Formats: sequence, C-alpha cells, structure tokens
Amino acid sequence: MKCPFCSSEDTKVVDSRTTIDGSTKRRRECNNCLKRFSTYERFEESPIYVVKKDNRRVKYEREKLLRGLTFATAKRNVSREQLDKIITDIERGLQNSLVSEISSKELGEKVLEKLRELDQVAYVRFASVYKEFNDIKSFIEIVEEIKKD
Ligand SMILES: [Zn+2]
Repeated sequence: MKCPFCSSEDTKVVDSRTTIDGSTKRRRECNNCLKRFSTYERFEESPIYVVKKDNRRVKYEREKLLRGLTFATAKRNVSREQLDKIITDIERGLQNSLVSEISSKELGEKVLEKLRELDQVAYVRFASVYKEFNDIKSFIEIVEEIKKD
C-alpha cells in the first residue's frame, strides 16, 4: 500500500475495522514520513495465508473453504446462506485481528466450532476430512466428544 504523501511503499496498519458492506477500513502509518491515512479494502486485497502442516503457505481462498463446507453439508438441511455466513464470520474475525496468516489447523478448528452449532453430521464429516482420520478410533473420539454436549 503506497503512502499518498511521499509514495513510500513502507507502510504499516495501525487500526483495522470491518464496515457494514464487508470491506475493511484500515488506518495506516507511513514508516517513511510518519503521516497517517485510511484505506478501504475488500478482503481479496489483503490476502490471508494458510500455513499447511508441512509449513507451505498458500493463499487463503474462500471458494476452497466453501467447497469443503458444501461437501460436509451435502444432503443436510443447511443452506448456502448459512455456509456463506460461517465463512464471512471467520474472514471478519481474521481481518479484525490483523493477522495475515493462520495455520490450517486453526482455520479448521474455527470452522468446526461453527459447524458444531449448526449441524452435527456436517461437523463429523468436516472433522473427518480435516483431521484426516486414518483409523476408526479417532472417528469414535470425535463422535463421543459431540455426545458429551
Ligand atoms: Zn509517507
């Protein structure tokens, strides 16, 4: 993000909040001339990176997350709007916390938290993909966990 006063590219975010239309208002400070300015950014313009288990960083993609959720909620009574809301909630949380990356584990946990309230079958399905169950024991564990609630 270029400083409008001195054109330096060296700026930092000092405050960030999401506006009603889903864009993010950021207060930035130029590290060169120390002046402050505001920017309005759509989520796509401030990418979040997902850090995989093998430490690879990939750009966060809403579509990818939506695919995972669509798979988990197939034939369940969950609407596309509900899925969009889950994703938007998570994205806003990330934006407001000013993080630029999140581990895939953390992201998965956030999704599971939301799915758990919404649909338990979807929760187990998503968990089975995300936690990569390779034995029946870990599968039973997650089902037991739900039953406790
Ligand atoms: Zn400047």
